[in-house]
Amino acid sequence: MTALGVAPRLAPRAGRPTEIVIHQGASGRILARMPLGDWIEERHGAPYWVVHRRDLQAALLAAVAAEPLIEFMTGVTISTATAHGDHVEVRSATGDTLRGAVLIGADGIRSVIRKVVAPQARLEFSGTAASRTLLPASAAAALGDPNTVGVWLAPGAHVVHYPVEAGAKIAVVAIVPDDRMIDDWAAPNDWATLAPHLAAFSPTLTTVLAAAPEWRRWALFETGPLECLAAGRIALVGDAAHPILPFLAQGGVMALEDSVVLADCLATRPTDIPGALKNYETARRHRVNAIAAASRRNGRIFHLSGAAAMARNIALAAVPASRLMARYDWVYGWRPPA
Ligand SMILES: Cc1cc2nc3c(=O)[nH]c(=O)nc-3n(C[C@H](O)[C@H](O)[C@H](O)COP(=O)(O)OP(=O)(O)OC[C@H]3O[C@@H](n4cnc5c(N)ncnc54)[C@H](O)[C@@H]3O)c2cc1C
Repeated sequence: MTALGVAPRLAPRAGRPTEIVIHQGASGRILARMPLGDWIEERHGAPYWVVHRRDLQAALLAAVAAEPLIEFMTGVTISTATAHGDHVEVRSATGDTLRGAVLIGADGIRSVIRKVVAPQARLEFSGTAASRTLLPASAAAALGDPNTVGVWLAPGAHVVHYPVEAGAKIAVVAIVPDDRMIDDWAAPNDWATLAPHLAAFSPTLTTVLAAAPEWRRWALFETGPLECLAAGRIALVGDAAHPILPFLAQGGVMALEDSVVLADCLATRPTDIPGALKNYETARRHRVNAIAAASRRNGRIFHLSGAAAMARNIALAAVPASRLMARYDWVYGWRPPA
């Protein structure tokens, strides 16, 4: 965000939590407190922010609007893309054709452009869904210090909450088993359907969640390790390139990292676009696959049951919190190209 010049626009809306607090779901007992706040800012030279997706998009959009080289068109659905030797063409659903020297597919998890670049890639359904809501911070007081990220663990399910809208609201995400493979990021869910999946959690948590005015549900998908992020004059970024389970909270971050690296590769080799895009692929493939694997691993650890969950809880309590967090230096210590 700083490298893109977007940080000052986002800062007034961002939450800067002081720590991640991990709870045993059933009792609410605190298992670990992992430092954020000053600790992580001093360690990595940038703050750890939590923001509402709308605020992030608004800040990015304002930066785009201020850039005269960008023409931004809304309401255009791309249905096909075709690569030619010296240019790329896309066709819109209304039959218009757009032509350019390079095409960046940033069209999300159901990417049309992925079908051209990596036709072999398949989405795999995780059997889980994320149900999300927003609560006024005052309604979530029972969850503890509002300026923290809370993570509650139970067998097969977990709940995360964090401050957004400059602390005015608490965003809640509940990950539970759900076999409805619906392809809609804003499908409604209701508490009566969600509550039985949260039966293992402490009433301290569920009483707060029961008061939420509405829930939205997103079925969770990912792909296996990806080899191909670019072909010829076409590249993929973000979820189009690599849908990632949200158990490390890094999917959107990877989309931003991809974009900064891709811009740098194109700026370095402006007259060799296929070469620039291959360099981008080489620069990103290992990291995004490692993040995807770590997200999957986090999900398995979060959802342990029985003796394995007890062992996890003992380990979480035994390891000093800053050591727990330092294990993620490779995630948070990433730097954009100079
Ligand atoms: C429950 C949940 C929690 C998450 N939490 C976090 C988190 O804490 N931190 C984090 O970093 N990430 C998180 N993520 C991941 C993050 O939301 C995604 O990785 C991120 O949105 C990917 O951005 P993107 O721009 O690649 O795709 P998207 O945000 O999906 O944007 C794709 C865009 O392309 C448009 N589009 C699609 N098809 C077409 C077409 N054919 N023609 C034209 N336009 C098209 C769409 O309308 C959309 O505007 C979470 C995800 C989920 C599901």
